[in-house]
Amino acid sequence: MLELRPGCECCDRDLPPGSEDARICSFECTFCRACAETALHGRCPNCGGELVPRPRRPADKLAKFPASGSRVHKPAGCRS
Ligand SMILES: [Zn+2]
Ligand SMILES: [Zn+2]
Repeated sequence: MLELRPGCECCDRDLPPGSEDARICSFECTFCRACAETALHGRCPNCGGELVPRPRRPADKLAKFPASGSRVHKPAGCRS
């Protein structure tokens, strides 16, 4: 199950579970659309994998399976 991390690793922008701007790789490294498309060119800086839109979890499922609260902020990989 996806963690649905709460923010972008590059800019720390909030990415709530319902956000259409969240992008993830297969390891669920999480970025906002702006960083994914501009700074990262669609590639995860941690693993080199592709970044794709994160699916949104329906609200009724979120109540039972809540999103992760642990924020990951690793801007070092975003300045290439
Ligand atoms: Zn960002
Ligand atoms: Zn990754």
